[in-house]
Amino acid sequence: MPSPKHIQITVKGRVQGVGFRPTVYRYATQLGLLGTVRNDTSGVVIDLQGPSQGLNAFIELLETAPPPHAIIEKITLDRNPPAITPANDFRILPSSRSGDLAAGMPPDLATCDQCRDEMSAPRNRRYRYPFLNCTDCGPRFTIIAALPYDRVRTSMAAFQLCPECLAEYHSPADRRFEAQPNACSVCGPKLRLLAPSEDTLAHAEQALREAIRRLRAGEILAIKGLGGFHLACRADQDETIARLRSRKNRPHKAFAVMFASLEEANQYCYFDNHEKAALASPARPIVIVKPRPDKLSAMISPDTDDVGALLPYTPLHHLLLAEVSPLIMTSANFAEEPIRCDSTELNMLLGGIADAALDHDRGILRRCDDSVLKIVAGKPLFYRRSRGFVPAGIRIPTTGPSVLACGAELKNTFCVTRRDQAFISQHIGDLTEYRAFSFFQESVTDLCRLLEVTPDIVAHDLHPDYLSTVYAQQLPGKYLIPVQHHHAHIASCMAENGLSTPVIGIALDGTGYGPDGTIWGGEFLVCDLHRFERVAHFKQYPMPGGNAAVDDPRRMAYGILFHEGLISAPGSEPTPANLDLVNSLGTQCRDMLWQMLERKLNCPGTSSAGRLFDAVAAIIGICTEPVTYEGQAAVRLQFIANHEVTEAYPVKLIDNILDWGPMIQCLSEEKQRGVSPAIMAAKFHNTIAQALLEVVENIRSTTGLTQVALSGGVFQNERLLHLTLTALRSHDFNVYQHHQVPPNDGGIALGQAAIALANTATAF
Ligand code: ZN
Ligand code: ZN
Ligand code: FE
Repeated sequence: MPSPKHIQITVKGRVQGVGFRPTVYRYATQLGLLGTVRNDTSGVVIDLQGPSQGLNAFIELLETAPPPHAIIEKITLDRNPPAITPANDFRILPSSRSGDLAAGMPPDLATCDQCRDEMSAPRNRRYRYPFLNCTDCGPRFTIIAALPYDRVRTSMAAFQLCPECLAEYHSPADRRFEAQPNACSVCGPKLRLLAPSEDTLAHAEQALREAIRRLRAGEILAIKGLGGFHLACRADQDETIARLRSRKNRPHKAFAVMFASLEEANQYCYFDNHEKAALASPARPIVIVKPRPDKLSAMISPDTDDVGALLPYTPLHHLLLAEVSPLIMTSANFAEEPIRCDSTELNMLLGGIADAALDHDRGILRRCDDSVLKIVAGKPLFYRRSRGFVPAGIRIPTTGPSVLACGAELKNTFCVTRRDQAFISQHIGDLTEYRAFSFFQESVTDLCRLLEVTPDIVAHDLHPDYLSTVYAQQLPGKYLIPVQHHHAHIASCMAENGLSTPVIGIALDGTGYGPDGTIWGGEFLVCDLHRFERVAHFKQYPMPGGNAAVDDPRRMAYGILFHEGLISAPGSEPTPANLDLVNSLGTQCRDMLWQMLERKLNCPGTSSAGRLFDAVAAIIGICTEPVTYEGQAAVRLQFIANHEVTEAYPVKLIDNILDWGPMIQCLSEEKQRGVSPAIMAAKFHNTIAQALLEVVENIRSTTGLTQVALSGGVFQNERLLHLTLTALRSHDFNVYQHHQVPPNDGGIALGQAAIALANTATAF
């Protein structure tokens, strides 16, 4: 018999809180190997003793069949480790220090198949138990009070494990070994159903039954999930959806729909293998897909032909959806506030929005909205990166001291770095909402604490009035690094793609503060992570009334038409062009706009691409009222565009300024001639893509740069993204886009952090 050998294996990546040590235990004992496994701050350390053949078989098993939610970044093998006393069994050692965020603290994980099977087996002791979980699944990020990740530091600390659950928890061979949220109906959390008076109507299974009955009857229920309350109702009743829209004061923005299973989703929507994989992934994001014709209510997504689909991700969802499905599932909040998560916040929902609440007694310690993404050319395009992805770190091309990057103001997320990893917060929201700003402040403290860092370097937007900027400036004793908004957008795209050499950046968005004090948003930068130069931009147009022109695209359209001399003065003989638009504004408003524009009063100039989309939507007649959510005009414009049309409008490029005047003139004429909005919208998209190509070709000819990074919320427009990628790639540009963070302002913090790190690396 060959003599036994001793090796030490260190595994790095997401290896804690995902059942790694029990898997190691199982493999080692199956192969008859001896030794120990333990967590430490860098990952998992395995000391193994046995014959070479067994050791090799072990390594192969670990590499080919790691625990399902582990992400192995690196396996280091030491064949001559420090000697240890020969073992006579295989043991899991208690962790001295575990659950480190950088060592792979996992996000919340959707219920696994094994747990689902148990939950549906009448003889199982967890039959129909809505809070079962195991080392492969269940809540993580949303229940942790502090690290290391141990039950006493989670909201499960309030529940004393029953003898059976305790035995599982301590048994290394069990799939619930050290599953911190382990629970059963005897010892774990319980459901209750609340009426608007906050009286409890029913408990446990009775509460579930009553909730299902009410949902079926068309009621709107607040349902406590992983990261907060959802509002849920039937997705197949127009009247119910109309009630939800009116109560939530959300007339047009799309709602997400939860389907009981992939099979059911497939009856309602089309999806390819990439979309299917995303829908069924343990992160369970909302995936934007195309519905099959006439299967879903048109009221779910009135502005587009898309639908945000998602699958159940908690045992409770499975139990509900098995009996009433599909359901609309939308965050329980008003407008842009943070999602409600606490049972004490229920009084705000009950009665006003929800007819009843399905609550439970497992605390949510961290709010976390559902993530939203779309699959474009096989890869994710994030609209919102939150539950299921946070707090996983993103590797960035620079390293240095910890940095706090405060993000932008709308769709806020912030970011804290540790070495070469960036940890981006969950979706915080619109900081101008008081509650969102409090959530921001709490969350900054919270994430720094989880990461055990005290950043001395703080990056913030250049905009002096953003609350994230004001917050940064009030922090005592920090080294502040202001970062221009569009530089941050491009740096964000660079960072997630591992780029640090200069690129041509195209940043198209709604609003960002320029160093010249004007509002930018259609920008061509030549930049690296240190500095940027604005080498070209969209022509500046007046925004009559500032923010009022953001809310009402017709005002922006009026400003642009005025600027291009395509509109006649009030009182003079009206030109027939753009008459519909002018009439829809009303005489009073039109007179006021004219005066403001003529006297240049409260008409800040903007090169914003988002505002150009708004104005064009109004000019072609598809936005005849103020918008009800950000980006609505662009959403409609993309939706109606006819995909067959290949023509474009003329534009002028003078002194690196893209002048849209000729295009606006053509649009006015075509509108007057009665050309269909579908054709005009298509030509408009083509025009933008061609103009972008023309500008970057110019920049390449003077700089020799061929790498192009695309960022900014306008690139959420899949049609524009596709046209731009095709145009640039066919002209031999290497084009980079976002796949890990959103192109919108939810991705800004990552770029701020990357820039701050690059600049401190040289400054310190
Ligand atoms: Zn499970
Ligand atoms: Zn129990
Ligand atoms: Fe932006």
